[in-house]
Amino acid sequence: MPLQRVAIVGAGLAGLACARTLAAHGTEVSLLDKGRSPGGRLATRRVEQDGRAFSFDHGAQYLTARGPLFAATLDAAGARAWPEQGKRVGVPRMSAIARGLAEGLDMALGREVVALTGGPGAWMLRHVAARRPGSTAEDDAQESGPFQAVALAIPAAQAAALLARPAPHLGRVLEMVRFAPCWTLMAAFPDRLPLPDTLRPEDGPVGWAARDSSKPGRDHATECWVVQAGPAWSRENLELRPEQAQAALLDALGALAGAPLTAPLYAAAHRWRYALVETPLGAPCLWEPTRGLGAAGDWCIAARAEAAVQSGAALGAVMAR
Ligand SMILES: Cc1cc2nc3c(=O)[nH]c(=O)nc-3n(C[C@H](O)[C@H](O)[C@H](O)COP(=O)(O)OP(=O)(O)OC[C@H]3O[C@@H](n4cnc5c(N)ncnc54)[C@H](O)[C@@H]3O)c2cc1C
Repeated sequence: MPLQRVAIVGAGLAGLACARTLAAHGTEVSLLDKGRSPGGRLATRRVEQDGRAFSFDHGAQYLTARGPLFAATLDAAGARAWPEQGKRVGVPRMSAIARGLAEGLDMALGREVVALTGGPGAWMLRHVAARRPGSTAEDDAQESGPFQAVALAIPAAQAAALLARPAPHLGRVLEMVRFAPCWTLMAAFPDRLPLPDTLRPEDGPVGWAARDSSKPGRDHATECWVVQAGPAWSRENLELRPEQAQAALLDALGALAGAPLTAPLYAAAHRWRYALVETPLGAPCLWEPTRGLGAAGDWCIAARAEAAVQSGAALGAVMAR
């Protein structure tokens, strides 16, 4: 008999693809995500400073489709070419792709799942208001369920922590997965920087830098940059305070420009602790039918958004069977 009621933790691309696949088979799906909007690492930061609005795609930079499923997903979302044919971005921002996929799905946002209780056939999820500075783990704790099955579409280390009690053997499998972190600078400048739209330096702290405002459908009048530190620098400097990472990456961008930068109109640094998978699981997804527990994410296959969609869809298909 097909599953009737399933919970999916994580509304990134993997969770959304899993949800859409299950919903197409008639399963009732509840998604929970700790973020304020769906999309996870396919993310856009929108800020206002001194009456001006700035927008930065501070997670995935561009998307490439090698297979038909992701190509169809990008076509349906109206993704456009940037910086050249074969690479595509969401319009007017990256997060638009996830919003399209999320349409019509039942989703609780701003809810962080902290425990998986109950047992096979009747899993319960304990969740709290997503932790913001000053809140505690038990703020506004709620229980959802029972669910026949639960899919964890979150980074492997976080899935391993949730599985540690109900399915320790699955948790142990996930511990082999390794991610590289990524410090990311978002900065807006009053003048155009003397740099091409994209750079991938061979050495130094910066792994990739892009004039985010050069993407199609953006406000080209603003000079918005996204600068990603390489994995080695990010790992060595993982515990910097955001202001320190921001200053270091602004200096590095200035060095690439070959001239001192004018003071930014806005700048902030974001640390992605789990940015790009380095050691993937090597299987499309994880599913244990006897317990009704599964896991999916880019980390099953490769460090690309397409892998997240493939993994989520694979988990949805095996659960629906
Ligand atoms: C800086 C950076 C640059 C990248 N560049 C590219 C690129 O150019 N091209 C490309 O193809 N890919 C790129 N990627 C990778 C791409 O973003 C990911 O492969 C993809 O978005 C992963 O999707 P996912 O659904 O597997 O995971 P995620 O997007 O991480 O989704 C997981 C979701 O789970 C939620 N969550 C986690 N824990 C909990 C919990 N306990 N309770 C509730 N919710 C929870 C999170 O809020 C998140 O929304 C980049 C990633 C980063 C960070």
